Amino acid sequence: MVEHWDAVVVGSGPNGLAAAIELARNDCRVLLLEARDAIGGGMRTRELTLPGFLHDECSAIHPMGVLSPYLRQLPLRDHGLDWVPFSASVAHPLDDGPAPLLVRSLDATAERLGSDGPRWRRLMEPFLRYPHDLLEDLLGPLRPLPKRPIQMARFGWHAWQPATRFARRNFETREARALFAGCAGHSVLPLETWLTSALGLIFSITAHVADWPCARGGSESIARAMGAYFESLGGRIEVGRPVHSMDDLPEARAVLFDLAPRPFVEIVGAAIPPRYRARLLRYRYGPGTFKVDWALSGPIPWKDPAVGQASTVHVGGTLEEIAASERDAWNGRHHPNPYLILCQQSHADSTRAPSGQHTGYAYCHVPSGSTEDRTAAIEAQIERFAPGFRDCVLARHVTTPGDFEALNPNYVGGAVTGGAADLSQLFTRPVARLNPYTTPNPKLFLCSASTPPGGGVHGMCGYYAARAALRRLR
Ligand SMILES: Cc1cc2nc3c(=O)[nH]c(=O)nc-3n(C[C@H](O)[C@H](O)[C@H](O)COP(=O)(O)OP(=O)(O)OC[C@H]3O[C@@H](n4cnc5c(N)ncnc54)[C@H](O)[C@@H]3O)c2cc1C
Repeated sequence: MVEHWDAVVVGSGPNGLAAAIELARNDCRVLLLEARDAIGGGMRTRELTLPGFLHDECSAIHPMGVLSPYLRQLPLRDHGLDWVPFSASVAHPLDDGPAPLLVRSLDATAERLGSDGPRWRRLMEPFLRYPHDLLEDLLGPLRPLPKRPIQMARFGWHAWQPATRFARRNFETREARALFAGCAGHSVLPLETWLTSALGLIFSITAHVADWPCARGGSESIARAMGAYFESLGGRIEVGRPVHSMDDLPEARAVLFDLAPRPFVEIVGAAIPPRYRARLLRYRYGPGTFKVDWALSGPIPWKDPAVGQASTVHVGGTLEEIAASERDAWNGRHHPNPYLILCQQSHADSTRAPSGQHTGYAYCHVPSGSTEDRTAAIEAQIERFAPGFRDCVLARHVTTPGDFEALNPNYVGGAVTGGAADLSQLFTRPVARLNPYTTPNPKLFLCSASTPPGGGVHGMCGYYAARAALRRLR
């Protein structure tokens, strides 16, 4: 018997799952197809090093997940999701002196920023009046009328600036400049680029609204909870079902692809017009990622023990050093002292490692498709701020840009955020179009991180794509 679906979703990352859920919540018959043997996309957890050590393959820490305007309203707790908070969201070790810490309390954050404390407070305070409205305005397609126009105008006034310029103009201490640069580094762009302050601000603001948590048991528990909720709404999931061409798809009124433009084009081929196809193929992905996971005999021995409180540690030193590292990755070079995003899930989630032992997770940005082994450079950077780190290593596992792309074709060249989010691609992802989730083929939609608002586990791309599909289905 041929089955007919209202919608088929290809790919079960956070956006594919969010799209499937939103469609099912609106009484659609939805089939979710996933190539790998389990759902999750960027939310996967495995014993990569030794038995008993659970490592997040990709996403690790979830400020966007816990604050997502869409995920927040889903009953994911009822389906097993448990966010684990930390007492600090970010720590930023420097060669000497106490590390700045980004914590929920403005006072406590300001306290460690010396003369920049009051400036940090003045900058953040206006955004903390209606932070959820701000996130709703930011985490979606560009809207003519935001929910809080004045707040958005204030945000925009700061956000358009390059992070380097913003940090130098607003702060005078090495600590505050570095703290801001570490947050802006999540943009995967040179920090001299317009708009990189936006990411610095968003990440800083979120840390004053919620502690950046991890998911108990690993990021895959977010996927499991979303999958279970989707099935409770009557949706069907089929894993081990790679879609190679349109012939692999069952009958459906709409198909939503949780895919980057390149794999999308490979599948749909002539189902989209050549001009649109050519525009998709011009989409730019940005630098790749080189990641190391460790099984550790104990916590990382940071020079400043306060760093151990944070879920995320930005390892890279000063604003200038971080800017140089990110500039190099963008321009096809390997910086000798790379800027690292390091996560310490096991410090708050005891399920991640045997008692008394810990997991370590860190990655740096590298030129797209790089094959250079960055393990020694990454470990040297950690050792710089945590002497004795190497002695704690029981085992390590390396993921290169090529490995990332093999795990998931969305990670083109090892780029893991759905494509470069610079001025020309931030709002017009993957191409400039009134509704970026639609395609010229009225049945086909894009719902991945290559659509607005871009990378991260928040499900907002999926939510907006589902809304676009629902309008067509009705
Ligand atoms: C190393 C790393 C660290 C990260 N850290 C964080 C973090 O700490 N916090 C955070 O919020 N975000 C983080 N991210 C980013 C986040 O994981 C991604 O932005 C997010 O997963 C994108 O979601 P998506 O739904 O668009 O696509 P994906 O998560 O890429 O999911 C796409 C799914 O589609 C499947 N698929 C692909 N092709 C096919 C096909 N032909 N047929 C069927 N299925 C297919 C894939 O197997 C995959 O399951 C990180 C990513 C990486 C790689």
